[in-house]
Amino acid sequence: MEIIRSPREMRSWSKRAREAARTLALVPTMGFFHDGHLGLMRRGKEVADQVVVSLFVNPIQFGPNEDLARYPRAFERDRDLAEKAGVAVLFVPAVEDVYPAGFATRVEVDSLTATLCGASRPGHFAGVTTVVTKLFNMVQPDCAIFGEKDFQQLAVIRKMVADLNMPVSIVSHPIVREADGLAMSSRNAYLSPEERIRALSLSRSLRLAREQVAAGEQDPIRLRETVVAELRRAGADDIDYVEIVDADTLAPSAVISEKSLLALAVRIGRTRLIDNTLLVG
Ligand code: AMP
Repeated sequence: MEIIRSPREMRSWSKRAREAARTLALVPTMGFFHDGHLGLMRRGKEVADQVVVSLFVNPIQFGPNEDLARYPRAFERDRDLAEKAGVAVLFVPAVEDVYPAGFATRVEVDSLTATLCGASRPGHFAGVTTVVTKLFNMVQPDCAIFGEKDFQQLAVIRKMVADLNMPVSIVSHPIVREADGLAMSSRNAYLSPEERIRALSLSRSLRLAREQVAAGEQDPIRLRETVVAELRRAGADDIDYVEIVDADTLAPSAVISEKSLLALAVRIGRTRLIDNTLLVG
């Protein structure tokens, strides 16, 4: 596996791959790999000849009071895991190379970004779409793999790619969970043992909601109340949002259908966690 730090070198590596008719999958990450990231890398190997994983903790997608400074980092461990997963290139650009002095451009999707995480994290998705655009330009992949754990991010990126005619196909990967149901996340590392138990409130409340729908519940308002009550009972400290939305438009569902997605963001101690599930099927 090659480790490339310079965007210019990344582009010339990618040009050589294209000249040799090799297709490329990009897996954008912020590192501190877990099985969710490794699942995306494996998917990349299925859909393209070679996989490039970017590891970049993107400062412009963090709000002023968020966890940029303490975001977990473990470069050597990540490098070994990516190598074992059969990744061709680990692309690790420096912040100064991605955002040199005077950098002044934002790529922003107007729809889909005002609700859910966009409402509680102003500027977050503009930070994501800006960096993903830059990564696409630097790596020039045929496809890029994103996890359904960040469901809104996936929808926003699909919209950006369609609106801007970007020649990259977007491939999604289902949420990878711990054996007890907790969605894997680099931020799980922040949880104390006691918080780790209370963090199960997220997946447990999603499961309860699916059971209620299977048992005939069709009213999104009542279902939302059940989920909020279960989150509080199971130890969530602060509920950022619990929403039942259409999986394509992210607009609130008036009735539960096979398109309805339950998405939530919750604070356990100081740690903000997200999770989601389709309610039917
Ligand atoms: P991150 O490093 O947290 O920015 O995540 C990088 C990519 O991995 C994003 O596309 C995430 O949606 C995806 N991802 C993170 N956690 C999971 C998970 N538990 N299951 C599936 N994909 C995930």
